[in-house]
Amino acid sequence: MPIGGPYELLIGGRWVPGAAGTYPVRNPATEEVVGEAPEASVDQAAEAAEAAAGAFPAWAATEPGERAALLHAAAGALRTLAPNLVPLVIAETGCTATVGRTMQVPQAAVRLERYADGALEPTVIPLPPQEMPHTALAPGGLIGAIARRVPVGVVACITPYNFPIVNMAGKIGPALAMGNTVVIRPAPQDPLAVIELVRILDAVGFPPGVVNVVTGSGPETGAALVEDPHVDMVSFTGSTAVGRRIGEVAGRTMKRRLLELGGKGAALVLDDADVRRAVAMIASTWTFHSGQICTAPTRAIVHRSRYDEVVETLATTAGTLTIGDPLAPDTVVGPLISAAQRDRVLGHIRAGLAEGATLVHGGDEAAVPDRGFYVAPTLLADCRPDATVVQEEIFGPVIVALPFDDEDEGVALVNGTPYGLYDYVFSGDTARAMRISRRLRTGNVGINTVQRNHETPFGGMRQSGVGRDGGSFGLHAYSELQSVVWPG
Ligand code: NAD
Repeated sequence: MPIGGPYELLIGGRWVPGAAGTYPVRNPATEEVVGEAPEASVDQAAEAAEAAAGAFPAWAATEPGERAALLHAAAGALRTLAPNLVPLVIAETGCTATVGRTMQVPQAAVRLERYADGALEPTVIPLPPQEMPHTALAPGGLIGAIARRVPVGVVACITPYNFPIVNMAGKIGPALAMGNTVVIRPAPQDPLAVIELVRILDAVGFPPGVVNVVTGSGPETGAALVEDPHVDMVSFTGSTAVGRRIGEVAGRTMKRRLLELGGKGAALVLDDADVRRAVAMIASTWTFHSGQICTAPTRAIVHRSRYDEVVETLATTAGTLTIGDPLAPDTVVGPLISAAQRDRVLGHIRAGLAEGATLVHGGDEAAVPDRGFYVAPTLLADCRPDATVVQEEIFGPVIVALPFDDEDEGVALVNGTPYGLYDYVFSGDTARAMRISRRLRTGNVGINTVQRNHETPFGGMRQSGVGRDGGSFGLHAYSELQSVVWPG
C-alpha cells in the first residue's frame, strides 16, 4: 500500500476532502512542509459522529473474534508499512530516528495486537447468587446475577502531539475491541501518520462508519465532538487546561470521560540511591523526545547529602548529548514540535532564572541549530518549591533540581504540585522505596526505573486526569457495566 498525500477525511466509509481546504504540517527540524492535512469543518465532525452512531449497533453485535481478527490485520499491515511510516512520523513529530524506529510505529502495532487479544477477554463477571426474602416487590428465593461489560457507544478520541499513532492506537484499540465505534481527532501538529493508520483500518475491512477521522489546524472540530449528542464518551489525552474544559462541557450531556492530562513528574533521589542510575533515568527528560512526554521525571528532588553529586553528574551528562538533526544516528535531542512550543519553553526557563534558579546547563541562550525549533537540554538548580518552573508542566528538555533534608520533606515536595501522573523513587533499599511510594499522590510510581509495564493501569490523580487505561484496564475504560439478575 503506498503512503502519502493527498490526505482526506474518512466519514461514514467515504474518503472526502476537508470542507475548509487544507493546512500545512511542518517538519519541526527543517520548518519545511511535510504534507497538507485536511481542514475539516464543524459540520463534518457532526457527520462523522452521526455515521459512528449509525454504525454502532451492528458493530457492537459482531463476534469478538471478528473484531480481534480485524485489529490483528491492522497491526500486521502497520508493521508491513513501518519502513515508509517511520520517516513520515519522524518528519512530522521531529522525534529522533531511534525513537521513531523503536517506539512510534512498533509500539502502535503492539497496542493494536494487545487489544486484538483483548477483544477475546471475558466480558461477563459471574456473581454469587443471593438468597432474598419475600418482599412487597417480588417473591423471594435464590436470585442469580452477572455483571457484563458492554460497549459505551460512540467514542471521540482526541489526542495530543508527541506520539501520534501510539496514543491513537492506545485509544482505538480497546475502544474497537469492546465494540464501540470511534471518531478520531488527532492533534493539529502531526496528523498525517494517523490518517495513514485510518487508511490501514479501512483497507483491512473495518465496516463503514466504525472508524472515522476528522483533522484540523484548530480546536474547533474537537470541541464540536465534545458537544455532539451522538458522542457517548470522550477519550482525551492532552493538557490539563483543555482537559478541564472538556470535562465541564462533556459533563453537561453526561458523556463518559477518560482524561489523560498533564504531569510534572518527580524523581525522589534518596541518600542511599545509586546516583549514576538515577541520573541516567532523569536524563530521559532530555533524551526521550526532548522532554515532550507527560511521564518525564522533570523534577530532581534530591537528598542534600547527594545533591551536589546529582547536579554535577546531570550537568556532565547534559554536556555529552548531541542535539540536532533527528535523522543523524548520533542525535539524542531533537527539536520541539513548533515555534510556539519552543518559545513557551524558553519563557519558562527565563521565568525560572528570574525566580532565582541557578542555570547549570543549557538555557535560553545556549547554542542550538539555526533552523528548527530547538531548545538545549537545560538544568536549573536550587529552585524554590513554589517557583513556576517547579509547579507548571513545561513539556520540553528542562530539569529542575531541589534539595531536601528528610523523608517527610521529600515526600511533601513530590506531592507539592497540582499534578499526580508519574513519580519515581530512587533508593538502594526497595522496601523503603515501596513504603514511600504509598505516600505519593500519583497514579504511577517507578522505583529505580523509568521503564514501563504496559499491563499496569495508567492515568493520573488530581489535576493529571480522571480514569485509567493500559492493559485490561483499557478495555474496562471503554465499557459500561450492566447487571443482569434472574430467579434461580
Ligand atoms: P492540548 O491539550 O493543547 O491539545 C490536545 C488535543 O486537544 C489536540 O488535538 C487539540 O486540538 C485538542 N483540543 C484543544 N482544545 C480543545 C477543545 N476545547 N475541545 C476538544 N479538543 C480540543 O495538548 P498538546 O499541546 O497537544 O499536548 C501536550 C499535553 O498533552 C501536555 O500537557 C502533556 O502532558 C499531555 N499529555 C498527556 C499524556 C497522558 O497520558 N497523561 C500523554 C501525552 C501528552
